[in-house]
Amino acid sequence: MANPLYDTLFGRHAGRDTVFLHLPNGGSLTHENFLKLSARIASVLTDLGLVPGDRLAAQIEKSPEALAVYAACVRAGVVFLPLNTGYMGEEIRYFVENSGAKLLICDASKATALGTVAQGCGAQMETLNADGTGSLMDRAAGQPDSFATVERDAEDLAAFLYTSGTTGRSKGAMLTQSNLLSNAQTLADYWRFTADDVLLHALPIFHTHGLFVATNISLIAGGSMIFLPKFDLDQMIALLPRATAMMGVPTFYTRLLSDPRFDRDLAQHMRLFISGSAPLLSETHVQFEGRTGHRILERYGMTETNMNTSNPYEGERRAGTVGFPLPGVELRITDPATGMTLTQGEIGQIEVRGPNVFKGYWQMPEKTAEELRADGFFITGDLGQIDADGYVSIVGRNKDLIISGGYNIYPKEIEMLLDDQPGVLESAVIGVPHPDFGETVVGVLVPSPGSEPDLDAITAQIMESLARFKHPRKLVILHELPRNTMGKVQKKELRDRFGALFT
Ligand code: ATP
Ligand code: MG
Repeated sequence: MANPLYDTLFGRHAGRDTVFLHLPNGGSLTHENFLKLSARIASVLTDLGLVPGDRLAAQIEKSPEALAVYAACVRAGVVFLPLNTGYMGEEIRYFVENSGAKLLICDASKATALGTVAQGCGAQMETLNADGTGSLMDRAAGQPDSFATVERDAEDLAAFLYTSGTTGRSKGAMLTQSNLLSNAQTLADYWRFTADDVLLHALPIFHTHGLFVATNISLIAGGSMIFLPKFDLDQMIALLPRATAMMGVPTFYTRLLSDPRFDRDLAQHMRLFISGSAPLLSETHVQFEGRTGHRILERYGMTETNMNTSNPYEGERRAGTVGFPLPGVELRITDPATGMTLTQGEIGQIEVRGPNVFKGYWQMPEKTAEELRADGFFITGDLGQIDADGYVSIVGRNKDLIISGGYNIYPKEIEMLLDDQPGVLESAVIGVPHPDFGETVVGVLVPSPGSEPDLDAITAQIMESLARFKHPRKLVILHELPRNTMGKVQKKELRDRFGALFT
């Protein structure tokens, strides 16, 4: 019997009493006990009538039991569909309906609202709470510690992961066992993860970053994770000395840097800090190195492909870039209009091909055909360029590209200039409708704590540094950029808010 994903990530640890999860209450869960937990849950799934290929949707708080639901799905051949814990009833309805999930697992506090949703979609419902209680666990309590893992092929689906919905409605990316497995193996090797690693894990587990990148790598390497429900600054600072590696979104790093307790001593024995999911400002990279002596390793990936590029483990980790295509991943930069490959240094759309690339969007054949080319390349929707040394950098999203009076304007170029201005913490540049130019540029500035940017001085600097067509027609001040849980700036929200400035 074989189930490549189960065998490689989980099954290999059978009988090992090594720690897999260190818990915030001081307790821990061994590999063996985690497998037993997953076996009991897998039996529940089978008892509830789920068969291989069925979908299971889960909107559950992060806990060891929640992670064991993922393992149980792999064992039972069920397609795992984790959902952002921030989604509300109507949003959940879309995912359950769209995926045709047979079972919805949610927190007991949402059982009433989501019970109606599940019923309306013909799905069963069970509960699982942050503390590991709930009807699912009641059922699991009486189940055996072993489970006859279902045979699966590497090309069978393992998960539907819905995209973050930054640029439009979330799409269900169909990921196979081999998509996940190939990436986990590549990343564990590339980032040198071993059984000695202790990964500080404060990311959510409903997203590719915390679920697949962090968890699958730890499992494949045989290491452990300090498994925290969320990012809490005090807790991070208290636990860093016990970790060897950390993965985070850029806001984790800016928040750590905002605390004077986070210093060279605290980070001294850490082996690796990894950042992704949203752009890490060069400034953060530089500041982090100044404070700790460590260079953050930035990588680039997405729901549909897992990880595509990474800065090197050894060799220069170049600020403002996402490094090189990973082994086995091909990356090309193409002209959005013609699809032709551009020459080195030109900005264009990033396309990737490799064993990591998903099988398409669930029940969206047209969308799939638009983005997955016949030759296997996936059009990521990101714009980027490759420098003379092969480092890839991301310029922004295709959908955020501003076209004003026929000129292409890349927000990132203007944002970098704005970020450098005195009194500016960070910025976001957006295109808004304009009667003459089609679109024009608006710069949103977030002041540094305690300062007030001098808009006249900034305007003067812009005039000096940028061609006229790129000048923001308006600079506005906001005290915070709208961000989702993964730290991604919600430019759509900014466009909605400032869209009528010139109309
Ligand atoms: P949707 O596809 O629904 O609009 P989304 O693209 O934000 O949402 P995800 O798959 O979670 O959903 O995010 C992938 C995107 O995150 C990438 O396409 C890229 O734009 C961005 N991203 C990831 N890592 C980095 C990075 N290191 N630097 C810049 N952007 C990054
Ligand atoms: Mg996307």
